[in-house]
Parts: sequence; C-alpha cells; structure tokens
Amino acid sequence: MRKIWPFMLVGAVLLLGIAGSALVLQRPDTNIVEIVQDGNVLHRLNLAETEDQIIEVEYDGRINTIEISDHRIHMLEAECPDKTCVGMGWLDSAAPIVCLPNHLVIQFSDSDALDAAAG
Ligand SMILES: [Zn+2]
Repeated sequence: MRKIWPFMLVGAVLLLGIAGSALVLQRPDTNIVEIVQDGNVLHRLNLAETEDQIIEVEYDGRINTIEISDHRIHMLEAECPDKTCVGMGWLDSAAPIVCLPNHLVIQFSDSDALDAAAG
C-alpha cells in the first residue's frame, strides 16, 4: 500500500496540469488577431469587423495564404515543407497557429491596442 501513494500523487499532479492547460488554452476574450512574422506584427485585425478575405504573407520567397471567413481565421495554404500550420485549422483558442519554417504566427492579441487606436 505504501508504494502506491507516490503514483497517485504523480497522477493527481498530471490531472491538475491537464486541467490547467485546458484553462489557459480557452479562447481569449478578444476578437483582435495578430499576424506576426519574426516578431513584427504585419496585420492586426478585429475578426468581429473584418470581412471575408485572403491575406498572403511572403517569407524568403515562400507564400503563406491566410483566409478569413465568417469572422474566423486559418491558414488556407502554405508553401512550407510540413504544412503543420494548415493542419492546425481555425484559430479558436489561445494556442497560436504557427508556421515554423516561414516564421509566421497567427494569434489572438493580448492587448486591445486596436480599439485604443480606433477610439
Ligand atoms: Zn507552415
């Protein structure tokens, strides 16, 4: 019996960790999305107000095609080797869509800078 306790403890810690990360990965309370390349914000959009459109971003001759449709955003196509970013689907949580080969990140903004600038 004594030897079981450490495993239960590890299990409990793991469960807490999973619950914690699920909390963190919920969609942030914002509609502001940033398209970031190499740390530079190329586009900052309010999904609630942005019309359906296609945004192309180039990195080193390779094109990432980002689609905004029905107030959602995803990577439609990418000229990258792994296509992981395309497979990530629609952005709907705090977990960003990342294209590592093309240094591109699509993420919800943690600031309301767009609103501040507009108002
Ligand atoms: Zn990619």
